[in-house]
Amino acid sequence: MTDTETRTTCPYCGVGCGVLARVESDGGVSVRGDPEHPANLGRLCSKGSALGDTFDSSSRLLHPLVHGQRATWDAALGLVAGRLRAVLDRHGPEAVAFYVSGQLLTEDYYVANKLMKGFIGGANIDTNSRLCMASAVAGHKRAFGTDTVPGCYEDIERAKLVVLVGSNAAWCHPVLYQRLVQAKKDHPELRVVLIDPRRTASADIADAHLALRPGTDAVLFNGLLVHLADHDETNPLFVEPHTEGLDDALACARAGSPDIEGVARACGLGPAQVAEFFALFARTERVVTLFSQGVNQSSSGTDKVNSIINCHLLTGRIGRPGMGPFSLTGQPNAMGGREVGGLANQLAAHFELDFPAHRALVQEFWRAPTIASRPGLKAVDLFRAVEAGGIKVLWIMATNPAVSLPDSAQARRALEQCELVIVSDCVRHTDTTRYAHVLLPALGWGEKDGTVTNSERRISRQRAFLPPPGEARPDWWMVCEVAKRLGFERAFDYANAAAIFREHAALSAVANGGTRAFDLSGLADLSDEAYAALAPLQWPVTARQSKGTARLFGDGGFFTASGRGRFVAVTPRPPAHATNKDFPLALNTGRVRDHWHTLTRTGLSARLSAHTHEPYVEIHPDDARPLGLAEGTLARIESVWGRASARVRVADSVRPGTVFAPMHWNDQFTNAGCIGRAVNPATDPISGEPEFKHTPVRLVPQKPAWYGFLLSRRRLNAGGASYWAMARGRGLWRYELAGDDLPQDWAAAARAALCAHDEKVEWIEYFDTAVRRYRAARLTDGQLESCIFIGPDPQLPPREWLAGLFALNQLDAPTRAGLLTGTPPKGAPDAGRPICACFGVGEKTLRAAIAGGCASVEAIGARLKAGTHCGSCVPEIKALLARDGGAKGESRIAFRR
Ligand code: SF4
Repeated sequence: MTDTETRTTCPYCGVGCGVLARVESDGGVSVRGDPEHPANLGRLCSKGSALGDTFDSSSRLLHPLVHGQRATWDAALGLVAGRLRAVLDRHGPEAVAFYVSGQLLTEDYYVANKLMKGFIGGANIDTNSRLCMASAVAGHKRAFGTDTVPGCYEDIERAKLVVLVGSNAAWCHPVLYQRLVQAKKDHPELRVVLIDPRRTASADIADAHLALRPGTDAVLFNGLLVHLADHDETNPLFVEPHTEGLDDALACARAGSPDIEGVARACGLGPAQVAEFFALFARTERVVTLFSQGVNQSSSGTDKVNSIINCHLLTGRIGRPGMGPFSLTGQPNAMGGREVGGLANQLAAHFELDFPAHRALVQEFWRAPTIASRPGLKAVDLFRAVEAGGIKVLWIMATNPAVSLPDSAQARRALEQCELVIVSDCVRHTDTTRYAHVLLPALGWGEKDGTVTNSERRISRQRAFLPPPGEARPDWWMVCEVAKRLGFERAFDYANAAAIFREHAALSAVANGGTRAFDLSGLADLSDEAYAALAPLQWPVTARQSKGTARLFGDGGFFTASGRGRFVAVTPRPPAHATNKDFPLALNTGRVRDHWHTLTRTGLSARLSAHTHEPYVEIHPDDARPLGLAEGTLARIESVWGRASARVRVADSVRPGTVFAPMHWNDQFTNAGCIGRAVNPATDPISGEPEFKHTPVRLVPQKPAWYGFLLSRRRLNAGGASYWAMARGRGLWRYELAGDDLPQDWAAAARAALCAHDEKVEWIEYFDTAVRRYRAARLTDGQLESCIFIGPDPQLPPREWLAGLFALNQLDAPTRAGLLTGTPPKGAPDAGRPICACFGVGEKTLRAAIAGGCASVEAIGARLKAGTHCGSCVPEIKALLARDGGAKGESRIAFRR
């Protein structure tokens, strides 16, 4: 690390990579992976590598706004506190709610939870982490008596078998996946099994892919439990002294998953595949089972989690090097939120809201006037209560529920009619800020200061390296200022984030003595200087374990009442809503490689927007054919709850009967692609986590009168199109368009859309009325300003070469000649569709290299550098090699209906 670099942590996923950030002389920010951070050891994925691209002052919320008008902090906070006080006096604490976020720092989270549960006296504080890992929390608590991940990342490298269940780690936890890739290279005997209905990028290194029927994970793991028991592959030395409940769990599993044939039938797999997986799991001592949203986001997510944990308990493969069930969290600080009680059914510091003695301890520690006495509403129910009018004031911090909640139209209705919506965010315009009565400007990444905890319980510092923009302030400061105005000055009088952290750590030590796994007693006396310098470490951190704790439960020591790990009897349930004749396809939602959540940050980066630039829906060819859905056309995804439009991708990577759509797009980037509108709001009865992976839908082909695209240096209004999706390019904006109405006069319509009224502007145009093709380009002083391509179908020129012309000061004659056909002159660079985000290598360049003799990923890396940095594009490079070069090794899966 150099003197000019700041050591901090990536704000995206739960891997929690260390980042070294530097402000350059031109004010830009450059980043590199921190070689000393134990989570990433110097690596960053495409998203982390592009963090420097995502600072955009024009998108920031810089001042408090009240009803859209700029206000002073004092006025805005006074209004918030005044309205809160009035509602509390009139309607009580349950009329107030906070909806917070895994993007908050632990210190922000801590004071928000303290204000709600100890001083307002309700528990209506829930977090968007409810949407991604609440089932893992509930499963952990049932099995271990504590929400504690037993192992650490190093276990993945020390395992002999890694099972990925419902986890596309290659795209969603890329650096961890790259550690797995490297481990497999170093230890070729390491086996990887992917269990996922979809053939995701994570199938790339899988020795086997079990493309099971959606929702049948618990059937499979129940079957595995029975198999292990029946084949004497158990660990009685662990099970007998350290666990309880095996008989019930086994009886339940036997009832539902009697034999391999039955399991295979129920899961839609081949019996040989199932038998092979069971045998591999049985004979391999060092097994890590990584699971994430594919397991958690289900109306039976908690049971699925426990069905996995059961198999690890039975074999005693937990908390020892190279083994254990491992929940991968989605967000950078989902784990920190769990520590402080950011979920409506938790207290703080892993105290239990349901235990009167715990409530009393926390109340006394906080010297609080009250304490919530029962769990609050979980995310989906919380927004229902807002719509029903029971919740009058809602404070949303650092999240975008109008996009991310299931049945998002319901969330929007709730926000529409809520008496007071307060949103604290660093972004001015989101689908959610649109509904805010009060907007409070928050610090963003690089400006704020505090801690986050990653998936392996590792606490790392996020450090500021930029000054606060405008009047933006830390989230914790806003919460404390409101608390003080409510009359709680003493309890919220913190000098800085370090003071909050010390209190958080001290609370974890209260009446602990080893009774709660979450224990930061070893950090309770950190000085400000020591907090500033805090190195990443895993909790628990106590006087005895001052360097943290890598693993728990290897020798038992669970936190249940009996101290034993609990087997949970699991009766598998199908998804809450079955497909039917009207809605015959099961919609699965998830992430794409280079985007994060609702695009508020990654959507600012041209580099990250290039790989996937508009919403899409993947459908199996067998399902696409009878519906008349062809590649590149548009489809409407319709469910009982709502609809969204997306580009059709026909792909055999999804199972027949299922479709996949990314979760990211919102109304800022498309007029119709927000998939949350269609997602069903069913939740798990224990965890409250929504079923994002299984919504019955139908796909309806859209038949627009025209398709088109538009590239422009300036951001334009695409409102005239019935479908549009916008993405940032390098020095341009890119719009994909379609329309239901044919304009009378294309030239006039295009000039209006491109604002080409100036006579001095050069206007090149082509119109073939017979086939309804229209193309035009606008140039100023020989430089391309914008171009538009319209046709009766989606067969339009590739955009990449045209987009590259925006970097030129002048278009030469051969380039102008090819402009309206979209054809580069001979010899002109045309990389094609972007594949490698880190080095900007496109598909055409890669295919040329393959044609020129590059026969392996390594050879391509040596020639083009593609795939040599973050590694996220390697599965796509391998697919190109397999297609063009006949390379071996691409995963192949046969689907069974
Ligand atoms: Fe950031 Fe996650 Fe990528 Fe690491 S893997 S750089 S934490 S997005």
